[in-house]
Amino acid sequence: MVRRVAVVGAGVSGLAATKCCLEEGLEPTCFEQSENVGGLWHYTDRAEEGRASIYRTVFTNSCKEMMCYSDFPFPDDHPNYMHNARLQHYICKYAEHFDLLRHIRFKTLVTKVKKRPDFSVTGQWEVVTWRDGKEETAVFDAVMVCSGHHVYPNLPLAEFPGIQKFKGCYFHSREYKEPEKFRGKKVLVIGLGNSGCDIAVELSTVASQVYLSSRSGSWVMSRVWDNGYPWDMLVITRFRTWLGNILPRAISDWLYVRGMNRFFKHENFGLMPLDRTSRKEPVFNDDLPSRIACGVVVMKPNVKEFRETSVLFQDGTVQDDVDVVVFATGYSYSYPFMEDDSIIKCRDNQVTLYKGILPPRLEKPTMAVIGLVQSLGPIIPTADLQCRWAVKVFQGRWLGKCWVKGYFLTTLQTDYITYMDELASAIGVKPNVLKLLLTDPQLALKVVFGPCSPYQFRLVGPGKWSGARKAILTQWDRTLQ
Ligand code: FAD
Repeated sequence: MVRRVAVVGAGVSGLAATKCCLEEGLEPTCFEQSENVGGLWHYTDRAEEGRASIYRTVFTNSCKEMMCYSDFPFPDDHPNYMHNARLQHYICKYAEHFDLLRHIRFKTLVTKVKKRPDFSVTGQWEVVTWRDGKEETAVFDAVMVCSGHHVYPNLPLAEFPGIQKFKGCYFHSREYKEPEKFRGKKVLVIGLGNSGCDIAVELSTVASQVYLSSRSGSWVMSRVWDNGYPWDMLVITRFRTWLGNILPRAISDWLYVRGMNRFFKHENFGLMPLDRTSRKEPVFNDDLPSRIACGVVVMKPNVKEFRETSVLFQDGTVQDDVDVVVFATGYSYSYPFMEDDSIIKCRDNQVTLYKGILPPRLEKPTMAVIGLVQSLGPIIPTADLQCRWAVKVFQGRWLGKCWVKGYFLTTLQTDYITYMDELASAIGVKPNVLKLLLTDPQLALKVVFGPCSPYQFRLVGPGKWSGARKAILTQWDRTLQ
């Protein structure tokens, strides 16, 4: 019987995990190495060891109605896309509202998680923590890993010949905080992800010139979509997902590319993804096209070689007098506290998880990795539903036959609604559209054609929230407000 659960980290995933455990009558202990909840969204002026670090001006890419916890909408007066400080405020309110703080041990680092010798029978884990110079060991029936995955920088210097000769300064985007100290400099940003685009655009207001280098291009989307509505309220709907699934691949690809080029034609801006139909996560940046059009950000292909003060690109062009290089080259997954990290990283050092949650090679399903899947959807509702699913699995109430047979997800990239519905069906919280059409047609139409907002997963079943129906019917009012 699972009773005591260790939760590693008190970011948005760890808070969801702690709340779910409490709702199911389990005893969670959440260990957080820093002094605050919020994880990545708790901004500090300096990057802290072992914790995600963001720049001062990070805003959310997901709007408030889509990225909230499923039973805790944002206040009406919040803007649709939020500065990190506002999101952090909301996260703190969530922790207070559900009385989670007393289950969190702050300033406590989890240094080791290892199977107990009798794991194959009990499924229990030994968790070693470090606080105020003191080590403690405790036994838990299950562990929820919520330690984040924007922590350990991926800095592939070996792929950049000559970088040792380069006399300017270079660093990973994790170290970037604000633009002022780059005033008047010539800066090269490498990587066309969200951080790379944000940093290039921000630096272009002070730098003498910004170059943005990309190996394979990216779809760049605007937060503000048709008629000025939030992109995700219009794009993430059950109807669109259903259409995408039934249409022939060629037509669905054509529609996809057309949709992605709606904001501007990527080809004309040197941003066209090499694999145009892959559903790789797009980048959100409202300003990049205009910065390129104004010439303050110049798109460049991959770097071929660094020289002392200049950079040679794959297309043969050379940029002289480059002062600063920002490597916005993403992050690697790492679980330094796992005694045997092949439990999570099994195949060729890749993470492979059943349903994007359970490490597949455990004799007992008593570990869940939360918040790792990548989809076009927001992380908070995803983590929330993952936790609700995982806690049911811990309690032995549900586990797909596939896990027993040894099948598991090989990729962490997934379609948002399909994935959410899969988890929701398994635990009995997926809305039944046909039944709704007969009993509550007004709500049914909103559920099918409207945004697939998190409240949909609180309409029925365990964890049902009485405010869910109203939240769905009024979501556009809050958006407009
Ligand atoms: P984190 O927020 O990283 O929290 C992990 C916590 O675990 C931290 O508090 C850390 O201190 C703690 N911890 C780690 N290891 C240990 C240990 N050994 N012992 C004790 N404590 C430990 N997602 C969206 O859905 N929408 C967005 O708009 C969005 N914007 C983003 C913008 C940027 C710049 C970045 C980098 C990411 C963005 N994301 C966004 C994704 C983001 O990862 C998630 O929003 C979310 O913060 C992940 O939460 P988490 O709780 O899983 O991890």
